[in-house]
Parts: sequence; structure tokens; C-alpha cells
Amino acid sequence: MAAQLDRFSLEYARTLDQSDPLACFRNEFYINEGTIYLDGNSLGLLSKRSERTVHSLLESWKTFGIDGWTEGEHPWFYLPEQLGEQMAPLIGASPEEVIVTGSATANLHQLVSTFYKPSGKRTKIVTDDITFPTDVYALQSQLRLKGYDPETHLVKVKSRDGYTLEAEDLISAMTEDVAMVILSGVQYRSGQILPMDRLTAEAHKRGILIGFDLCHSVGSIPHSLSEWKTDFAFWCTYKHLNGGPGAVGALYVNKQHFGATPGLAGWFSSDKSKQFDMAHELTPADHAGAYQMGTPNILSMAPLLGSLAMFNEAGIEAVRRKSLKLTGYMMDVISHELAGFGFTIRNPEDETRGGHLFIEHAEAARICKALKEEKMIPDFRAPSGIRLAPVALYNTFEGIWLTIQKLKAIMKEETYKKFENKRGVVA
Ligand SMILES: *Cc1c(COP(=O)(O)O)cnc(C)c1O
Repeated sequence: MAAQLDRFSLEYARTLDQSDPLACFRNEFYINEGTIYLDGNSLGLLSKRSERTVHSLLESWKTFGIDGWTEGEHPWFYLPEQLGEQMAPLIGASPEEVIVTGSATANLHQLVSTFYKPSGKRTKIVTDDITFPTDVYALQSQLRLKGYDPETHLVKVKSRDGYTLEAEDLISAMTEDVAMVILSGVQYRSGQILPMDRLTAEAHKRGILIGFDLCHSVGSIPHSLSEWKTDFAFWCTYKHLNGGPGAVGALYVNKQHFGATPGLAGWFSSDKSKQFDMAHELTPADHAGAYQMGTPNILSMAPLLGSLAMFNEAGIEAVRRKSLKLTGYMMDVISHELAGFGFTIRNPEDETRGGHLFIEHAEAARICKALKEEKMIPDFRAPSGIRLAPVALYNTFEGIWLTIQKLKAIMKEETYKKFENKRGVVA
């Protein structure tokens, strides 16, 4: 039947939704009536399960007071480890290699403080020139703390086209004077997935440690960090993982590094059985928990209990399968409906694309404002980028179809012209 339908019709989009094995998860989210939310790569939506787990942890505070650390359904003292265990399948790690703590930026600082050990000629850190600014700021400040000039010691591999990176260029930068490589698993603008397995192997061949920023890849693509033997990784949890604004981040440290003294230690780095001995000699945990610092932000972790349960029920492989279908379909409809309106697709079109599309247009800022007025929520990235994230757990093929039809109308009728072509404070 489906074969006889016009591929660009609304009916066809609906048949895709009818045969979607993950369709049931959409009802678990709060989605405003009439809104099509395509910004799950910036801030994921609230689910009913996350709301329940937040309430459950508030309830344990209400009921137990101080004893909530060890009592109740989710004793707070063990929550970072418990969530690490729930998170581990998403990145392909063992439970003890993952801990929920800090933020992406704080965890990058912790991991570089722990593992960056310049010695002899090996003093440089390699990253790239299209990476997220916080990574660059953190690496520059880490180099300064060690007495190096970031101008000479932070090597930023150039993107040839301004959107994507070539594995060959990254590997060529892994020279004898490099101690560490830090790259993003999925690029925050173009959505390009790097070959993390290959880059890990190439770094190790050259005696270099490698860590990945997984902010845009966790919850959108599967990983096998343990199998690849990636040294470490860090990420935030408020994007594809729907952990809520300011949700606590996470980090991974490969088992072979267990026992490495935390660069930024605190009493939550402790072996839990010793922590309350209150000794001035730290006995660090013998797992990723050693890279925590102070008291965990329990209420900002609470939503993850609900959202990670959902991811584990759906399975990250199934999430990726649907995500590829959604982004593939969206690119088809864009190419068909928006030809001649000045849009260019900048994300990789093959399977090295992550969970969001990146399209460019000279009027992108005000086109996004016009879409938002129609309750279709894109994400603007200066100067001319529009990110569209049809996420597997709550977006639909029909929603994609409707969005692109609306976008076509906005372009035809030029309704975007009533807005200023400037970004807002948060964009
Ligand atoms: C969102 C994002 C961050 C954010 O870091 P925070 O510490 O959570 O503010 C870092 N890196 C990348 C690649 C991101 O996309």
C-alpha cells in the first residue's frame, strides 16, 4: 500500500508513524498542544517519568530528612553510581566506568587535570577549530595552569569546509609532541559523527591519550567506549537525554585507568566505605566515582532516573534506527519542497550524520523566529545555521512534514521579513 502513496504526501508521513515501533514513547512526554518541538538537541522535553522521579526524591527529603542519604527508594548517597549504571549501556561501558557528576565543562576540567601529564617533548593538546567554545576555553585554561602558552600548545585541527573534520587530518596532527586529544563525538553544528573507534586506535598507536565530548552523541547514537578502549569521555544530560535545564552531567573513565589520582579531588572522590572516617588522607574510589568532587546535586539528577529508564526500555539501537529514518525523511522532504528557496544542507547526508540536521540560509535568524511564531521550534546558530532535531522518542514523521510545509509557506509568503535578522540572547 505504502508504495502507491506519494512519498511527499501527508498520508505517507502518517503511514511511517503507524509502523514506528517507538511511537508509544511520545505519550510519555509533555508536548504543548499544536507545538512541534525540534530542539531536543539543545534542551530535551520533560517526560512524565522524570516528573515522577523528581517528586519521588522531593518526597524522600520530606520523609527522611538527613536519612534520605541512605533511606528511601533511591538513597542519595549511591545515586551518582546508580545513574552511572543506567547510563552505561548508552555509551557502551561497564557500570563502574561511568559516574553522573558535575557538568560537561567541569568534567572536562577534572579529566584533563587527572590525565594531562606533559613530559619531555609530549606537551601539546590537540582539538579542532569547529569545536564547542567551552572545550576550547577549558583546554586553554588547563594549559595556562601548567605554564604553557595555549597559542603554541593547543593545536586546533582545521576543518576543510568549516563544517566537518577529516579523520586523516586529525590523525596527522597526532605527532610526537602531543600528550592528549580531545574531540567531539558528534559536531554540535554539522552533526557529523567522528570515527571514535579509529581515532582511539590511532592515538594509542602513537602513545597519546584520547577523550571525547559526547554532548551531542549521547542518547542519539550508540557507542562502544570500553571496547574501543577510549581513555575518557564527558557529556551533559539535558540535550538528547532529557535530564532538564542544568541537569547533572556525566563522565566515563576506562577501567585501565582506575586508580589514577583525581586531579581535582574532593571528599566525594572517596571510597564510600571510608568517606565518613573524615581522614585527611584521601582513599579514592576504585572506579569512575573517584572523579567526583563534592556533594552531588541530587534534585538536578532526579529527572535522569525517569529518562534513562525510558532509554533503556527503548534501546539505543532502536533509537538510532528511528533517528536515521527521521533525519533521512526530513532531508528528502526538504530537498523536494524547499528547492529554490536558498537553503543548503550542511550535515553529512550519509550515515555519518548524528541526530540533528544543520541547514543554512542567509536569513536563518528571522526564518527561525517565523517558525517559532507558528509553534515549530527550531534552533538557530549564528550566523546562518538552523539545527533541526527530530528526536526518536517524541517526534513524528507527520510533524516533520508539517514543519517543512510551514517553512515553505513562510518562504513563499516571505512572512519572515517582518522579523529582524538577529539572534536572541540565548540562541
Ligand atoms: C552543550 C555542550 C556543552 C555544554 O557544556 P556545559 O558544561 O553543560 O555547559 C559542551 N560541549 C558540547 C559539544 C556541547 O554541545
